[in-house]
This record gives sequence, structure tokens and C-alpha cells, in this order.
Amino acid sequence: MASAGAGEGEASAAGPSQVVMVRRDLLAKCMTCPLCLKLLRDATTIIECLHTFCRKCIYEKLNDEETNHCPTCNIYLGPLPLDKLR
Ligand SMILES: [Zn+2]
Ligand SMILES: [Zn+2]
Repeated sequence: MASAGAGEGEASAAGPSQVVMVRRDLLAKCMTCPLCLKLLRDATTIIECLHTFCRKCIYEKLNDEETNHCPTCNIYLGPLPLDKLR
């Protein structure tokens, strides 16, 4: 009888759709600015920790609040934090 292997096709069919959902969720998080909570505009990355923000958001944050730290992970960016943006 060959009935033992009949169910394998169904089991693997359920896998790929779950993977796609997880990847879409991760992508959405990567594309969102933690400062304005909207999609990134002119995405700018801090080279020290690779956190990404809108260019406007991170420039305003570093200039207006005179902070030298990443708003996400609080890593110290040195005396010229704008030099750490790419
Ligand atoms: Zn933003
Ligand atoms: Zn960071």
C-alpha cells in the first residue's frame, strides 16, 4: 500500500504562507521611522548602530534636543553626531 506518504503534500503546503507573513511584518518594521512612526522619508542610517530614521526626523532630533545619542538604542555618537549619518 502507498497510503503512508499521501499526507506529505498537504503538510508542506501550509509552510510557505506563514513564512511570507513573517517576512512582510519584518519589512514593515524596517520601513517605519521610530520618531514619527510613519514610513521612512529619505531614510538616513546611523552608521554606528545601523538604526534608520527619516532624514528630517533624525536631524531635528539631534539639532533641537542637542543630544548625541541614538534615539533608539542610546549609543553615544560622539561630538559630531551628524557625521555618523548616511
Ligand atoms: Zn520620521
Ligand atoms: Zn541606534
